[in-house]
Amino acid sequence: MTRSPSWIEDGSRHIWLPYTQMKTAAPPLPVVRTSGTRIELADGRSLVDGIASWWTACHGYNHPHIADAIRAQLEVMPHVMFGGLTHEPALHLAQRLAGLLGPGLDRVFFTESGSVAVEVAMKMAMQYWLNRGERGRSRFLVFKGSYHGDTFGTMAVCDPEDGMHALFKGLLAAHDVAALPVDDASMVALDAHLAQHADKLAGILVEPLVQGAGGMLMHSPVVLQRLRTLADRHGLLLIFDEIFTGFGRTGSLFAFEQAGVKPDIITLSKALTGGTLPLAATVASERVFDAFLSDNPGHALMHGPTFMGNALACAAAHASLDLFEREPRLDQAAAIGAALREGLAPCKDLAWVKDVRTLGAIGVVELTRIDDMNRLKQRLIDQGVWVRPFGRIVYLTPALTMAPDDLERLILAVNTVVAAGPP
Ligand code: PMP
Repeated sequence: MTRSPSWIEDGSRHIWLPYTQMKTAAPPLPVVRTSGTRIELADGRSLVDGIASWWTACHGYNHPHIADAIRAQLEVMPHVMFGGLTHEPALHLAQRLAGLLGPGLDRVFFTESGSVAVEVAMKMAMQYWLNRGERGRSRFLVFKGSYHGDTFGTMAVCDPEDGMHALFKGLLAAHDVAALPVDDASMVALDAHLAQHADKLAGILVEPLVQGAGGMLMHSPVVLQRLRTLADRHGLLLIFDEIFTGFGRTGSLFAFEQAGVKPDIITLSKALTGGTLPLAATVASERVFDAFLSDNPGHALMHGPTFMGNALACAAAHASLDLFEREPRLDQAAAIGAALREGLAPCKDLAWVKDVRTLGAIGVVELTRIDDMNRLKQRLIDQGVWVRPFGRIVYLTPALTMAPDDLERLILAVNTVVAAGPP
């Protein structure tokens, strides 16, 4: 252990941390370096990162191919405004993403965070109807357990009861909240709801296969097929928020592939740049895009973040996509999934455990309750791993490149801490 550098104490008096009760939370861990699947702390400890920095660092940290691409782009042009100007990294990335998503997801609008990408998807869907002369479609159908971001538009499409923005209930725009159609009865109920209320809706918004920040709640691909059927039957746009699920996390490059259905609009971010720079994309079908083509300038999509299409971030995204092309990421995701399934299974028998579930390279241990979150987090850190439980769950979403020994260490740490019982 080395002495704490002065920037920790000096700066901590001025920083405001995310999702953190600043009065009671344990201080954050100061990080001085990352490499591969390790986080190195200022005091010299090295932690195995179990969540790849909120699911961004899919190739591990400091991948040389991504670092080289950012460096090369920095020499040429870090950024230019995207209003009236354009550049090869953004146009080529748009083409590349459209190619990966396949026909039906054709037009790419870049932003710099997931929340804003969802805001843009919502704006696209609402304006799609306005441009066609239909007013009054201001609501979305969203689902219990949903999470789509922290901005005001996206807070309103999070689960209003159990979601992390429940405090704001009643202050946000109103939307229709339903149970996911996981069986025939809920499908019939949703169909009936839409038969009555579809004319007030702009679209249906869902996180496909896994509702992430809502509690890592998983559903079958059939649910997405049902939503596509309902969207078509009731003439609604279908939006998949793949900010968490995109880029291999659920075992396929995109979650929608497992259902064999496509949304009209998709949102991507998180792993898009391999965990290096902020970038997000909202990708729409040509049908949605066409509704904005008009001789009326007022029909244009009125959105344009200052750092839209940032060239450094686009270069990083290209390099990340190169790695998905060149290296066996989906095989690695499958191997990690198998290890998580097998390795976390013993937790099932423990009294403190409500459920153990896995999908793709996601492993979840749901506990009956977490009373002392600080101590639980500390126990995991003491085991040499960085895992960030929330709600009632301890979850793992490691880099898809994690080597077997680090993965083993991670799984052992979760088993040990969960087996010890509530702190
Ligand atoms: N949608 C989903 C499904 C997410 O998981 C997140 C982030 N956890 C967001 C949107 C918001 O993304 P950001 O934090 O980049 O604004």
